Amino acid sequence: MKRLGIVWFRDDLRLHDNETFAWAHMNNDYVIHIYCFDPRQITAKTYKCDFVKTDKYRLKFLIETIEDLNTSLINKGSGLLTYRDKPENVLNQLIEQFKNIFEITIAFQQQVTQEETDVEKIIRQITIDNNIHVKEFWTLTLYHPDDLPYNNPKAFPDVYTQLRVALEKQGVRVRRLIDIPNTFKPLPDGIISTPVSNLSDYEYSNETMHTNSVFTLQGGESSGLTHLHNYIWNKNLIKSYKETRNSLTGPENSTKFSPWLSNGSLSPRKIFFEIKKYENEQNIHDAGYWIIFELLWRDFFKFIAMKYGTRLFYGRGLKLEPYVWKHDLKPFEAWRTGNTGIPFVDANMREIMATGWMSNRGRQNVASFLTKDLGIDWRYGAVWFESILIDHDVCSNYGNWIYVAGVGTDPRENRHFNVVKQGFDYDPNGIFVRIWCPELTRLPNEYIQTPWLAPAHILKEAGVELGVNYPRPIIIVPQWNQQFQNRRKSIQNQHHTQQRGINFYFKNHEKR
Ligand SMILES: Cc1cc2nc3c(=O)[nH]c(=O)nc-3n(C[C@H](O)[C@H](O)[C@H](O)COP(=O)(O)OP(=O)(O)OC[C@H]3O[C@@H](n4cnc5c(N)ncnc54)[C@H](O)[C@@H]3O)c2cc1C
Repeated sequence: MKRLGIVWFRDDLRLHDNETFAWAHMNNDYVIHIYCFDPRQITAKTYKCDFVKTDKYRLKFLIETIEDLNTSLINKGSGLLTYRDKPENVLNQLIEQFKNIFEITIAFQQQVTQEETDVEKIIRQITIDNNIHVKEFWTLTLYHPDDLPYNNPKAFPDVYTQLRVALEKQGVRVRRLIDIPNTFKPLPDGIISTPVSNLSDYEYSNETMHTNSVFTLQGGESSGLTHLHNYIWNKNLIKSYKETRNSLTGPENSTKFSPWLSNGSLSPRKIFFEIKKYENEQNIHDAGYWIIFELLWRDFFKFIAMKYGTRLFYGRGLKLEPYVWKHDLKPFEAWRTGNTGIPFVDANMREIMATGWMSNRGRQNVASFLTKDLGIDWRYGAVWFESILIDHDVCSNYGNWIYVAGVGTDPRENRHFNVVKQGFDYDPNGIFVRIWCPELTRLPNEYIQTPWLAPAHILKEAGVELGVNYPRPIIIVPQWNQQFQNRRKSIQNQHHTQQRGINFYFKNHEKR
């Protein structure tokens, strides 16, 4: 009997460095590739707050990714079968169609979080019921979990630095890239690739990108590889990464690899080895250290999910004692829609709503504000991010949320962002705030982060009417006003020092 491999693509939407895909082509006579737009992950509602699970930005990126994968496969004489259905339904049908003709193996990427592993269990059961083979591969992370210096997931460290130091000390290596097979096995007779869904199938219009979006690239393995090449080789951006990664604006300030990493159209190992090649060729030792450092955070949250399972989704997170969160929808809606009256929070929230993107600095601040200043259940924020983010990754999203909310793996107790200080530090001239809160454009820099502290005549001159065209703050934390006063004093001191310098200069020149 000839062998048929069925590759069920999941968050591994690439041909490069894809063990599942390579295995199927090396070990079968025919290969079918399927992708399922699973309604449980696309149109279903989040388990709190009823947001659609995958909103238009990620869906658009995903559809582009699937189109690109299909094209790459067609170019090699194969193709992709796409479905708007659950994988278990699709696989059952394919098994029924082919089980008397071929010896079938279903090959897929293993995942770690509950909704995903629940589906895996169903698929395994289907293979048992039909007496067919199943082959599973770990292709999600930079480091393979089997290579970590721990016996089992329960022994993985809870602190990121412990993981990083253990890997560095013990010299754990990243496994080599998996080659793309030289020849692709054909589809069985009578099977042809199916047209990919488009946004209108989901009742979204094919809108153009927001003009202020910092992420304007298309989805797909091809565009991901081009972006990686441009980032490293053409634009030489590795060099400036450490200094710029915290910036709020500008498409080139951080790598922007996350949307491809999240759906697997770019492999973290591919990024790693490309960085190593750059370091060797340019003879700059550890030039890409900080990017790899961040990629390891991505791994860390996957390992945390492996270790803690569903606890990643508990209100109390990984803590054992219960945690009381508020579930007040009014302030939550003000946060979600960018109408809290705190410009730094509003600008970030309006950015994510209009583009699906927010910088890491922004994400940390708005998450801290929601959970630490408003005391609202972190899961409300996490499900909004899950819905709207272009780069949503369940482990990175939920892992970071519990971390910032203080119920996760942050070894520093009570980390709390002062969002006004952060606004002044990272957006001192209000460039970012003015992009997303244009109603504050004419406010002087001194008050751009704290309009409620501006005197009435300044507000009037700037055309700002609090409570009318820009909200009054829904909360004022005493430290914010203190921050404003401190900054004012330090600016006045600087001004005096400069003035003294000028006076001194003139006095001395007069003397001569
Ligand atoms: C509340 C909150 C929610 C988040 N949700 C997500 C999410 O759903 N998906 C997601 O990919 N990232 C998430 N992050 C992490 C981080 O904000 C993004 O990975 C990063 O902003 C993506 O931009 P970049 O690719 O330019 O990152 P870079 O700074 O260029 O980093 C390179 C890569 O490292 C990884 N990385 C960087 N920082 C982190 C981090 N803190 N945690 C995990 N991985 C990281 C990403 O894969 C990223 O692409 C979240 C952070 C917070 C605070």
